[in-house]
Amino acid sequence: MAIEKELLEILACPKCKGDIYLNEKGDGLICDACRLMYPIEDDIPVMLIDEAIRLRPEDFSEISRTAQPEGL
Ligand SMILES: [Zn+2]
Repeated sequence: MAIEKELLEILACPKCKGDIYLNEKGDGLICDACRLMYPIEDDIPVMLIDEAIRLRPEDFSEISRTAQPEGL
């Protein structure tokens, strides 16, 4: 596993300082609040706002639905 869970807990969105989570493919970290995906290159998350990929509303809703934690 490239990205450790512990690392995910340390990382936060550089824009809003909120929680981020791994996407389905495991090649990006998503911030719900900003609707941005920070790409993971060579197993290293690129936590730069300038490098972040803006999620389209349709993409976001799909990801959000599948990644929604239970019990919220
Ligand atoms: Zn954010």
